[in-house]
Amino acid sequence: MREKFWTLPLQELTSAEWEALCDGCGRCCLHKLQDEEDDRVYYTDVACRLFDPASCQCSNYALRLKQVPDCMSIRDEGEEVFQFLPSSCAYRLRYEGEPLPFWHPLVSKNDQAMRLAGISVQQRVVCETSLDADADLEERIIHWVVA
Ligand code: SF4
Ligand code: SF4
Repeated sequence: MREKFWTLPLQELTSAEWEALCDGCGRCCLHKLQDEEDDRVYYTDVACRLFDPASCQCSNYALRLKQVPDCMSIRDEGEEVFQFLPSSCAYRLRYEGEPLPFWHPLVSKNDQAMRLAGISVQQRVVCETSLDADADLEERIIHWVVA
């Protein structure tokens, strides 16, 4: 991978560089609600059924798009996908021409910086499979992740 590839425009990144840009925060794997009146997006603390809150990883990344049709392949989606991503997301930041934050693993070179900055959802959310079928997502809205 090229030196400081994360400063390059998204469209210039190789596949490996694109994958390496992800900070692994897990925020994009949370269910979201969108206000019908003003289109505002709200995040919940309920994660996709393939998300493992303990490891903060997708349990089947290779087959995720087949198993979860709503899962986003950010690079293959249109530009409208960025509005649904967390404001902290590296792809969204670079799409908007912003630099990566100090806690991003590529910048900090420190595995703990993202956790200490409160960005990772590890151990802070629940998987949808652990909820009752009639659970109300509106009651699970959080404000520490914003789009
Ligand atoms: S929100 Fe962005 S940076 Fe975080 S895991 Fe999802 S794609 Fe990666
Ligand atoms: S399928 Fe995997 S990557 Fe996609 S939202 Fe679910 S846990 Fe996240």
